[in-house]
Amino acid sequence: MYNPKSHNATEFIDHDEILETLAYAEANKANAELIDSILEKAELRKGLTHREASVLLACELPDRTERMYRLAEQIKKDFYGSRIVMFAPLYLSNYCVNGCVYCPYHYQNKHIARKKLSQEDIVREVTALQDMGHKRLALEAGEDPVNNPIEYILESIKTIYSIKHKNGAIRRVNVNIAATTVENYRKLRDAGIGTYILFQETYHKESYEKLHPTGPKHNYCYHTEAMDRAMQGGIDDVGLGVLFGLELYRYEFAGLLMHAEHLEAAYGVGPHTISVPRIKRADDIDPNVFDNGIDDDTFAKIVACIRIAVPYTGMIISTRESKSVRERLLHLGISQISGASKTSVGGYAEDEPEDEKSEQFDVSDNRTLDEVVRWLMEQGYIPSFCTACYREGRTGDRFMSLCKSGQIQNCCQPNALMTLKEYLMDYASPKTREVGERLIEEEMKNVASDKVRAIAEDRLVKIENGERDFRF
Ligand code: SF4
Ligand code: SF4
Repeated sequence: MYNPKSHNATEFIDHDEILETLAYAEANKANAELIDSILEKAELRKGLTHREASVLLACELPDRTERMYRLAEQIKKDFYGSRIVMFAPLYLSNYCVNGCVYCPYHYQNKHIARKKLSQEDIVREVTALQDMGHKRLALEAGEDPVNNPIEYILESIKTIYSIKHKNGAIRRVNVNIAATTVENYRKLRDAGIGTYILFQETYHKESYEKLHPTGPKHNYCYHTEAMDRAMQGGIDDVGLGVLFGLELYRYEFAGLLMHAEHLEAAYGVGPHTISVPRIKRADDIDPNVFDNGIDDDTFAKIVACIRIAVPYTGMIISTRESKSVRERLLHLGISQISGASKTSVGGYAEDEPEDEKSEQFDVSDNRTLDEVVRWLMEQGYIPSFCTACYREGRTGDRFMSLCKSGQIQNCCQPNALMTLKEYLMDYASPKTREVGERLIEEEMKNVASDKVRAIAEDRLVKIENGERDFRF
C-alpha cells in the first residue's frame, strides 16, 4: 500500500502507485484542461505531486509543452538567478564487491586497473584540484568493506579538509558512497560532510535486482532506505538520482518524485539535490545493450519537469554530458555542474598511463575549468564556488525554509560574486578574468539589498587586496 510516510521502501515507492500514475498520465496526455490546471498550480512555485508532474512529462500538446519549458526556465531564474554552482568529483577507490551490470567497476571486471588513493595521493589530487580553483568536491568510492572501509573514507575527508595550498581550500566535501548503517552516517556527519549522495539507479525493484545480481547492493530495500538511515544519522542534506537508460524513464521519474515526497513527509525536508545521469560508454560497458536509452529531447523534458515539480531542489549534471547538452539543460533547471572532471582514480595530479586506465565512464565534456567558467560567463551565467550555507549551518529544514521564503537570494548572489572574484584573482587566465570582472560589475547591480551590496563591494576590494573566504 502506498504510504509516503512509511519507512519501508516498497510502501513509499509503491510499484502499483507508479503503474497507476503512468496509466493516469497516459490517459491525460492530451487533456488540455487538466494540463492547464497543473501548469497553473506549478506557476505558484510550490511544486507538484508525482502524479501531476507525470502528466506534464507525458503531455503531447506542443503549445503546453512550450509553456512548460518557459515555466521551468522562469522558475530556474526566480530561484537560482543566473548562478551555477561548480564542483568536481574525486574518485578515492574503484575496488568494489558489487556486480552492477552497467558499471565497469563491477567485481568481475578483471582487466580494469584497480586503484585506491593513499592519503599522500589524496594530497596530490586535492592540491591539483585546488590549483584549478575547485572548492567543492564529490567523493566517490566503490563498495568494499576491506579496501574502502568507513575509516578510510573518514580519514580521507579529514585529509581533504586539512589541505591548504596557496589560497586554495576545499570547503565542502559531498560524499557518494554505498548505502550504509545509521552509525556510519553519523560518523560521516561528524566528519563534516556536505550532502550525502546516493543514486537509486532504478526504482523498479525487479529490474533493480537483475541489474545488481550480486553483492550487498542487490538488496533493493536496504539501498532505497539509505536516505532514511542517513537522516536518522543526522545528515539532513541528501542527494537523489537515477541512472536514466536502465528502465522506462517515466517509471523512474515518478519513483524519483515519490522518493522526494517521502523525505518531505517523513522528515520534513526534501532532497537537497537531484542528479540526472544518463548511462554512458565505459570500459566493458556498452550503453546500447540497455533498451531504455533516452534521446536529448526527452532528457530536456525530464529536466524541465523536475524543475517545475521540486523548485527548491538543486539539480546536478556532470561531464557525462556534452557541452551542447549541458548548454540546453542549464536553461531548463540545472543549478550545479562539474567541470574538468576526471572519472578515474588519481587522474588530476597526472594522466593515467594507457595500460592503467581506471575510469568509471567516458567524459563527454573535456574542457578545462577555466574554459567552462568562461563559457558559462559568456552565456550570462555566474559560476559560483559558494559553499556558505553548509559552513553557516544552513542545512536541512533551515536551508529549505530560507529557500522557501526567498531570503536565500540575499546570500547567493553576493556569495557567488565574491567566490567568483576569488577564482578570477587566483586561477583564471587573463581572458577569463577580463570577462569575469565585467560580469561581476554588472551582476553587483542585481544584489537587491543596498546594505548587502555595500558590504559585498567592500569585500570585493578586500579580495583584490589578498583577503579570502568571505560569506553571507
Ligand atoms: S555502481 Fe558503484 S557499487 Fe556498482 S559496481 Fe560501480 S562502483 Fe560498485
Ligand atoms: S548561499 Fe547557500 S544556497 Fe546560495 S549558493 Fe551559497 S551555498 Fe548555495
